[in-house]
Parts: sequence; C-alpha cells; structure tokens
Amino acid sequence: MSQAPIYRIQNLVHQYHSSTVLEIDELTIPKHTIVGLAGPNGSGKTTLLKMLAFIEKPSKGLIWFDENKAEPFSSKVRFQVTYLPQVPYLMKRTVIDNITYGLKIRKDPGDHRQKCFEALSMVGLSGEEFADRKWFELSGGEAQRVALAARLILKPRVLLLDEPTANVDENSSRMIRRASLLAREKWNTTVLIASHDLDWLMNICDDMIYLFQGQLSGRGKYNILFGPFYQDAEGVWWKQIGTGQRFMISRPPLKNSAAVILSSDMHIFSQTDSTFPESNTVRGMLTNLRIEKSRSKVIATILVDGFQFIADLSEEQKQNSNFYPGKEVLLSFNPNNIKWQ
Ligand code: ADP
Repeated sequence: MSQAPIYRIQNLVHQYHSSTVLEIDELTIPKHTIVGLAGPNGSGKTTLLKMLAFIEKPSKGLIWFDENKAEPFSSKVRFQVTYLPQVPYLMKRTVIDNITYGLKIRKDPGDHRQKCFEALSMVGLSGEEFADRKWFELSGGEAQRVALAARLILKPRVLLLDEPTANVDENSSRMIRRASLLAREKWNTTVLIASHDLDWLMNICDDMIYLFQGQLSGRGKYNILFGPFYQDAEGVWWKQIGTGQRFMISRPPLKNSAAVILSSDMHIFSQTDSTFPESNTVRGMLTNLRIEKSRSKVIATILVDGFQFIADLSEEQKQNSNFYPGKEVLLSFNPNNIKWQ
C-alpha cells in the first residue's frame, strides 16, 4: 500500500489586496521526497512555501498535513516544518544563539552546544571557529549556512528552502546543496526547494512542480516553456529564448498555457553533425551530463542564453565521446511533440 502523502492541498486560494496570486485545486507531496519548485519570478513559489510552512494563512482552502487538517500557525505543525526564506534573518546575537534558538523554544533537553556543532558541520562550518562569532562577523554565504544550520538542528520532517543558493558564493552554494541531501539521508526529511537553478533541481529532485501565474502548470522532470509566446506575420508561433534565439512552437491552446517538451523529444547535435535539422534549432552550451539510474538514460543539460534545457542522448551519442560539458551544441525539437498544459 502506498504511503499517505505528507501534504495534501485542496482548493487553495491566496490573495494579496484582493488580487489572487495562488490558486491550486489539488496538490500532494509524498513523504521523504525531494521536490523542486520552478517557475518565473512572481509565479507564487514563495507564497506556496509560506503556506506549506504554516506561517501564512491561505485566503481559502485546506492544507492536510499527515492526513490531518492543519491549522496555520499551530505549534503542532509548525514544529515539524521549517522554512528557510531567501533572505534569512539572523538575530543580533552569536551564531550559537541563533542556531539553538529553536531548540530553546521547543525546550529541548539535549546538549545544545554539541548539537550546534553537528548542525554547523552539516553546512561545512567548524563549530570551534564559528559558534561564538557575532552575527556581523559572517559573510553572506556563511550567514545563509548558519540560517540553514538553525533549521537542520531541529531535524525537521519537512525542510522548505526558498532560493537557498541565490546570492551566495560557490563554496557556500555547494555546502547548502550537500546539506539539503543530508537532511533526507539522515532523518528522511521531505525537502521542497524553490530555485532557478534547474540543473541542480533536475539532479537531486525526485519530482518537479512548475508554477506559472499562481497556478500549477506541470509536474515531472521535463522542459517547460512559459509565455509570452508570439505569432509572426505568417501566423507562425514562437517562443523567444533569452535575447535573440527562438523556438518555433505549435499554437498555444490558451493564453497562459505552458509548453512541455519531454527530454526524450529534445535532441542535441554537434555543429559538425550532418543530420542536424535546418529548422527550429538554437545554439547552446552543454553544461552537464547525468545518468538517470532507473532508466539507464544519459541526460544532457544545455544552457541557451540563461535558459536551461534537458535532452536525452541517443544510443549512438552515448557511445561516442563527442558530447562533454563545455561543448557548443545545437538543440532542436519537433513542435508537434509539445504537450500543452
Ligand atoms: P515567486 O516566489 O515565484 O517569485 P511570490 O510568491 O513571491 O512569487 O509572489 C507571487 C505574487 O504575489 C507576485 O505577484 C508578488 O508581487 C505578490 N506578492 C507576494 N508577496 C506579497 C505581499 N506581501 N503583498 C502583496 N503582494 C505580494
């Protein structure tokens, strides 16, 4: 029998100043999964995370937590879920005071200093060096890691991360990524991550949720193109990628439809490849190759003007060493293969 989900959202609506910013009829999050949350700025990712953290009350609708109707702000649910905002707030105290604050609130009887050291080590910081520092003696990346350690010390059942690697240095980013995985490894924590770093999300997440204009626009690991789309004088529909290049698409069924292209329908070619199609091709750089264990696929990530795409390597491409990170490639799909959502 499959396990009950940790979250179930029903008919959720949230409004700010009577304008609806989030509207989700039904959404479940299975226990112990790592789920990525993607979508353009303003699509409602932070709002959704705040609802799931029970720190903001939805205008309408229900959130079930562990099969119980959860009341926003109730300590029963709040103590099981922890949320790391994009710009975390540190109290004007020492690192250890910040990190152990949640333990004090929960009247945790353990050795707080030792627990603080363990939490710091999860984010790659030494307790000896950092525990007694003041809040202003930290770089931006270190402050973000301290804020994450303050969540990890609680061994949360759910960890909600809002753009945790935006605006931090590369080393901090690596440590934050590692700690997000460790939480599930150590405590079976369910982790939800809102990020623009699709490459990271695709790598570590079991599942992806896409939001667009406050609505769910897809679920799963695939390429998704959001509007605006435009039609040229000949009536052909296009999506502009970044500043110059564009993909031809089929006609969007609705104004706010999103175009889904499976990684198996996205194809890459090297520039010297004689088989590459003349039409609907953009240039990009292969940035990553990963193996999808369950399906023995090799999936390439391609960066095109700041947009990331994923494409399966063909059997032939898997055999030769022509595709490697840093290589310039051409990317193409057949517009008839778009699945509109
Ligand atoms: P995202 O995290 O995807 O960038 P947000 O959830 O932050 O999106 O925002 C969704 C929408 O809600 C945006 O249009 C934003 O301007 C609006 N919004 C967010 N917070 C507030 C607020 N406190 N008051 C009014 N509008 C808000």
